[in-house]
Amino acid sequence: MTEVDLALVNGRLRTLDSQRPQATALAIAAGTITAVGGDDAIRELCGSQTRVIDLDGATATPGLIDSHMHPFKGAVGARGADLLDAHTLDDVLGALAAERAKCAPGEWVQGWGLDYNVFAQTGISSTVIDDAVGGAPAALTFMDFHTLLASSSALELAGVDGPRQFAEHAEVVCVEGRPTGELRENAAMDLVRVAMPEPTPEQELQMCAAHLRRLAAVGLTGTHAMDGTLETLELLRELESRGELVTRILTPFTIEPDTPEEMWAAYARAGGERGRRWRAGVAKFFIDGVIDSGTGWLVEPDSEGDGQASFWPDVDRYRRAVAFFASRGFQCVTHATGDRGVREALDTYAQAGAAPGVRHRIEHIETLQPSDLPRFAAQGVVASMQAQHMMWLDPERRDNWSRRLGDERCDRAFLTRSLLESGATIALGSDWPVARYDPREGMAAARLRRPPGHTARAPYDDQALDGLQALQGYTTGAALTGGDGERLGRLAPGCLADVTVMAYDPVETDADALVTTPVTLTVVDGEIVFGG
Ligand SMILES: [Zn+2]
Repeated sequence: MTEVDLALVNGRLRTLDSQRPQATALAIAAGTITAVGGDDAIRELCGSQTRVIDLDGATATPGLIDSHMHPFKGAVGARGADLLDAHTLDDVLGALAAERAKCAPGEWVQGWGLDYNVFAQTGISSTVIDDAVGGAPAALTFMDFHTLLASSSALELAGVDGPRQFAEHAEVVCVEGRPTGELRENAAMDLVRVAMPEPTPEQELQMCAAHLRRLAAVGLTGTHAMDGTLETLELLRELESRGELVTRILTPFTIEPDTPEEMWAAYARAGGERGRRWRAGVAKFFIDGVIDSGTGWLVEPDSEGDGQASFWPDVDRYRRAVAFFASRGFQCVTHATGDRGVREALDTYAQAGAAPGVRHRIEHIETLQPSDLPRFAAQGVVASMQAQHMMWLDPERRDNWSRRLGDERCDRAFLTRSLLESGATIALGSDWPVARYDPREGMAAARLRRPPGHTARAPYDDQALDGLQALQGYTTGAALTGGDGERLGRLAPGCLADVTVMAYDPVETDADALVTTPVTLTVVDGEIVFGG
């Protein structure tokens, strides 16, 4: 028998294993959990080379997995001013002026996490930010990363001076033929991004490695990284060979409406690629955009008459692409915020079928038609939900998202509990850098449906999860979603040795206090990647 490398003792183990839900200790050898039990039994297994960590009463859970994140795009894209907490126009302009002060003359001012609601009075326009950035080129990404606001000089440098046509549902927003500075969806955003200076590949790699360390420090042991290309596989190989892959990563290939079919074939050939801590084999699609900009695909138009278009000009091509990948054993992932988008994804999955053991999934599901709700369980489609996205919703429904959807659809917003009770698998995630990646915030949001510490009653809080369900969304649910239900998401002999330790039990800790509960140890694959 392999010698035990690492033993955790004197803890409270919340194993999520029905065979043995509670224990105080576990043993790890060669990246696998070999035993779970009482302190004495586990100490008996330890040899002279075993590292024994006394948890001192802290709670160990299966390693936490964020099922929807953009770790690499975020590590490189979320640069400059962090605007996630800037909820008034004055806050935004103040943060931009401060960021501008840190930049050299002529340097691009960048920022991310912009709130659509701060432009309620002014409209989204370059002229609102031009002074704050001192006339410099500036590119600010909205919180959902689906819209970019460029300053006037950024538009000029990028040569964006009027409307453009795109293969996808993207737009250079113009008034009387002149761009306002608002660029909707990637194809439009890229017009400005290409004019910005690029970090070197080595700098990008360092940014990605540093970000993975940050994930480990908040207790994450795995993520489903929601965008990828063949280059992402190279990045993963390089990170793993340098010992920097401290998070398990499942990486999909993103299929855009204009991705050529030769590329589908190239991705299909790479479907089986994997390392020790990462794998491919997933295809990601967007069927729509976001409710806030009117690009979410809705059964009925929103209050501004938007929401009637798919992200795919030819939806049949989306259906063919899903069928192509599903028939090659891929898991398919579809971003769908609007109820029409969700329905289209469910219809498409039903047609395409899935390889044995593969569950397709739908991301966000911000509003859903009642008749489509039971289809998740019936079809075995995972509901991947991000409760932190509710932080922009006002309980009185005066925010942009709620005004666009109106009361009746708001009543069907983020139906997490109904989906769970219908028998659907729920996977939770942050969608970082859309929301903060800390899983303590993610679990709190699923329980509170509002930011922690706010006193206002949560909107639609009958859909809240309890502490155990929130933890399951980050462990067992996420593991099932990733096709790893046998090996991840539980602390049990034979499972991969991914463990998160917090000072207090994340299930019993009050949701408002959860974010301040220290993470004390993170173990991935038997390796201590944080604390210890
Ligand atoms: Zn996303």
